[in-house]
Amino acid sequence: MALKRWNEVRTAAVIGSGVMGAAIAAHLANAGIRCLLLDVVPNSITVEEEIKGLALTDKAVRNRLATQGIARLKKTNPSPLYMEAFADRIAAGNTEDDMPRLRGVDWIIEAVTERLDIKRVVWDAIEAHWTPGTLVSSNTSGISLTAIAEGRGQAFKESFVGTHFFNPPRYMHLVEVIPTADSAHDTVEQAREWCERRLGKGVVIAKDTPNFIGNRIGTYSLVTTLREMERAGLTIEEVDAITGPAMGRPKSATFRTLDLVGLDTFMHVVGNLTEHAPTESERQLFKLPSWYHKLVEQGHIGEKAGQGFYKKEGKGRITALRFDTMQYADRQHVQAASLEAAKRANGTGNKLKALLNTKDKYGTFAWDTTKQMLVYSASLVGVIADDIHNIDHAIRWGFNWQLGPFEMWDAIGVRESTARMQAEGVDVPAWVLEWLAAGHETFYMKLPSKGKAYAHLGGYRNVETAPQHISLRELKDAGATIASNAGASLIDLGDGVACLEFHSPNNAIGGDILSMIQRSVELVEQQYRGLVVANEGKHFCVGANIMQLLAEAQAEEWEEIDDIIKHFQQSMLRLKRLQKPVVAAPHQMTLGGGVEACLPADVILFSAETYFGLVETGVGLIPAGGGCKELLQQLSARFPHAEDDLTPHVLRIFETIAMAKVSTSGFDTERLGYRRPKDEVLIDSKRRIYEAKQIVLAMDASGFSSEHSPVIRVAGREAKAAMKLAIQGMREGGYISEHDALIANKLAHILSGGDVPSGALVSEQYVLDLEREAFLSLCGEQKTQQRMEHMLRTGKPLRN
Ligand code: NAD
Repeated sequence: MALKRWNEVRTAAVIGSGVMGAAIAAHLANAGIRCLLLDVVPNSITVEEEIKGLALTDKAVRNRLATQGIARLKKTNPSPLYMEAFADRIAAGNTEDDMPRLRGVDWIIEAVTERLDIKRVVWDAIEAHWTPGTLVSSNTSGISLTAIAEGRGQAFKESFVGTHFFNPPRYMHLVEVIPTADSAHDTVEQAREWCERRLGKGVVIAKDTPNFIGNRIGTYSLVTTLREMERAGLTIEEVDAITGPAMGRPKSATFRTLDLVGLDTFMHVVGNLTEHAPTESERQLFKLPSWYHKLVEQGHIGEKAGQGFYKKEGKGRITALRFDTMQYADRQHVQAASLEAAKRANGTGNKLKALLNTKDKYGTFAWDTTKQMLVYSASLVGVIADDIHNIDHAIRWGFNWQLGPFEMWDAIGVRESTARMQAEGVDVPAWVLEWLAAGHETFYMKLPSKGKAYAHLGGYRNVETAPQHISLRELKDAGATIASNAGASLIDLGDGVACLEFHSPNNAIGGDILSMIQRSVELVEQQYRGLVVANEGKHFCVGANIMQLLAEAQAEEWEEIDDIIKHFQQSMLRLKRLQKPVVAAPHQMTLGGGVEACLPADVILFSAETYFGLVETGVGLIPAGGGCKELLQQLSARFPHAEDDLTPHVLRIFETIAMAKVSTSGFDTERLGYRRPKDEVLIDSKRRIYEAKQIVLAMDASGFSSEHSPVIRVAGREAKAAMKLAIQGMREGGYISEHDALIANKLAHILSGGDVPSGALVSEQYVLDLEREAFLSLCGEQKTQQRMEHMLRTGKPLRN
């Protein structure tokens, strides 16, 4: 049977509309797949249904669970949907009436209650309505896929795998694909390709063992943490201070994570291992402390219950559990030499090394828990996954750790840490000792040419990276840098395309980046076919470097500030006027100046996870790097005729900027007026540089010519009056501060085109000058300086 490619998937059905089923359906809908969501038929009607005169036979009642699941998607924060409207791609149904609708869908995913008996009944029904060509998968977090598939037809079994999404599916990168002995190779590859390409996920191939990869090691690590905490007599806050960013893990560390996951949910995940782990001694390892069970019995199961390990006491006060007394107490402030050492160290590997090598009680705790996790992971190579590479990916993508176990081990030094473990009587798996005895120092090896290799069956195996996953770091290592300074580089992507990469701290735009933009324009103009603006930072760009700006403002160096803005505006103008195609490919946070660096591009290729917005008002400023001008210019191009009324459109731009609105996804940029018809959104973000390059090449091949009218038609005084009226209303209603109103008025002045008649034609430079004047005057405001200071100190906007 011909395989269906990722871009041919049109329809899916998800059975089970609970936490995971509904959210998986949402992510399928995000990817443009029409989805049927089914759950059981309720056995009684609710009061509301009764009032409406509905009976158990009515569709509205029979589909209630799935309908509620879809409704919940629209209220969940952060949203499982890229755009609320995408929920319309999901249809509700039930498993009594709608199973025949499974025929011919491309993919059926089962996400019902985690019990083999329930799942088997559901799968009996699915098999009865399955037609060849449909991929079938279960989202179980730990039940044997072989047991679910047992006794079914051979063709069906060949089309069946586990697809274990992590919660929440939109945001967690990991999907474990779990083949059984019967799964066809093509089925596994299809599942992998659909999850990666269509859904943008990171896939690992796991073996069909209890809790697969992520939840086997992740659970072990958590349970070890609880046990060692008791042994070391540490508090919950102390453990969280150790097991968060100091070890390259998320801020939510151990207990905040458990509160978010739900103590009951975690107990079920652990329960599967206390029942099904292969040996009695291993099952014992997964026993949770009695006080944990007590918390669950009391209903203190975390965030959803208002309390778990932490408790919200109201007015922002949060207390922490004392597990020895089961009382909540004020959170203690945690400080220690080891934590300080980790904080000061650069990069996750060095942080970990600093923490683990400091022998105070926190450093010792970190070492004790880490060494057990490393040894446990090593003992499972070949058991839960074929290789260390899949294990590292599962832990990084499933738990948002910076490093997986073997990457951590490399970072702290395999030889010296193994010697320390052995000196402490730890039983290190033989293959690790053999690996060291063979003279290897690390599990991963950087290849002299390009890429890296990992330890596999006594030798190294190359990490296979798809050519579409362009790595700027690797290109630079291979000598592809064309030009570079402290803040940015221009890199040769091959085929005559160059990439402008920001790499300053937080990718904030300062003088270095601006200079590199100008240099890039010169070089690309002469020697290349086009330019990609993209990078591999955590965020594309958090905005302009306001630290320098604040220092100049406090020193009243107005001319300096004027020069900075001119430099910014000129750089963006040159990018815009480059006579070669420019494609910007932003991802994650793209704010303020980051947006202004994208808007001059001929095409913006948004990653689906892009949070895009001109947020300057949050620091008491207005966009002055051409952001206002760009939006007005686009408007003018869309509505060039004298009879076109620009005012409603300008009001929308005004609202977006004045309220510092940020898109909730790449798709959502359309709602805010940032996305232009030629812009695109890409779900598989790992391919963004490659895809941006392809767009450049296509534009170049079709005879690119840059067309921008330097004349802008503006909305004039009438629009300004409308904006002023809105500001006055907001001020009188107490919704905005006096300073907000001052900033908004300056913004209104720019967006209307200054004091000109409606429909007047102005030049690009004229609007840029309006931006610059307003920006300079705001820099002189004390309240603006306070906002900037606050942002630099806390990372949050101040409303003063
Ligand atoms: P849930 O309890 O929120 O939802 C389960 C849903 O299945 C309910 O809506 C229930 O009515 C429905 N259901 C039960 N029997 C059914 C039947 N016979 N036919 C149709 N629907 C039926 O559970 P969940 O957290 O969404 O978990 C679903 C699956 O996903 C489980 O296998 C679980 O292990 C797995 N999983 C959960 C998480 C998580 O964090 N919650 C993460 C990954 C995987």
